[in-house]
Amino acid sequence: MLTGVQVVFLGGDARQLEIIQKLSELDSTVTLVGFDQLQNPFHGVQRQSLTPELLQQADALVLPAVGTDDKGRIHAIFTSDELMLTEEHMAALSSHCVLFTGMAKPYLSKLCDKHRITLVELFDRDDVAIYNSIPTAEGAVMMAIQHTDITLHGSECLVLGMGRTGFTLARTLFGLGANVRIGVRRNEHFARATEMGFKPFYVTDLAQYVTNIDLLFNTIPTMIVTAQVIAQMPNRAVLIDLASFPGGIDFRFAEKRGIKAMLAPGLPGIVAPKTAGRILAQSISQLLLEFTRNRGNGQ
Ligand code: NAP
Repeated sequence: MLTGVQVVFLGGDARQLEIIQKLSELDSTVTLVGFDQLQNPFHGVQRQSLTPELLQQADALVLPAVGTDDKGRIHAIFTSDELMLTEEHMAALSSHCVLFTGMAKPYLSKLCDKHRITLVELFDRDDVAIYNSIPTAEGAVMMAIQHTDITLHGSECLVLGMGRTGFTLARTLFGLGANVRIGVRRNEHFARATEMGFKPFYVTDLAQYVTNIDLLFNTIPTMIVTAQVIAQMPNRAVLIDLASFPGGIDFRFAEKRGIKAMLAPGLPGIVAPKTAGRILAQSISQLLLEFTRNRGNGQ
């Protein structure tokens, strides 16, 4: 249990509600900032304004999926007030406070470094990334269905990258009956892809493998689908870039060629906010239990 552990939530979207629910069930003391427009308030959970005094008490601070923007603004859909995390707030945190977020921009990482606050970037964790790959793959399938006039069954699909997202997506497409080719760079991924029934190729040869595709899904976070590669594609191809901004597709050239190409960020939060919230809730609660056990508080 997390009895006596003070957790402050600063902003966020529907995913936060699952985390609040879970931490309340574990008996932590939860305070919400930036939730004044929430329709169904949680029982026994306080709402307050963001002040240094509030943060002094916190054992943990939970920020949204993207902690802050480059100026310290916190995304908060349940309030119309602007929420800013400032130097003064960080200075008020006690040294044992742990800050959780999905991913931190340099503004937040620098503040945490400066004030020696433990920063946990949940999307960096393998377990979270693997669980998140499930709603991501479902979201990618949704986008593919929306943007094509053929079934995925029997379609020529190309997945780039066999990491946590690429692997799940390739398996999902394969399960739907698509012909799946997967672009890898490691021999062991080539071997595993062969074993799984996908047709692997090395990404260095990408241009040779795009001449007959219906769909391309990129998970490689670097420029990989260049103008030279796009030049080899049929006009019907639809390109869905899952890699984080700016993605790995030359969108300018795709548009010039009249090929549909789109960046598809944040799919778990869009297609399955409840599941995405539960994934984060599970990870945060486990980590908080470990931290508090090591510190000797919580029960
Ligand atoms: P990951 O496990 O690190 O997988 C990335 C893959 O890209 C790995 O297979 C890696 O190969 C490969 N790769 C990286 N650089 C490469 C290069 N220069 N040439 C060839 N292959 C290269 O990451 P992930 O968790 O799957 O996430 C992939 C991307 O999707 C990230 O940008 C992540 O932020 C994003 N993402 C987006 C969503 C969404 O909703 N759109 C959701 C989750 C994640 P090696 O294994 O050989 O290193």
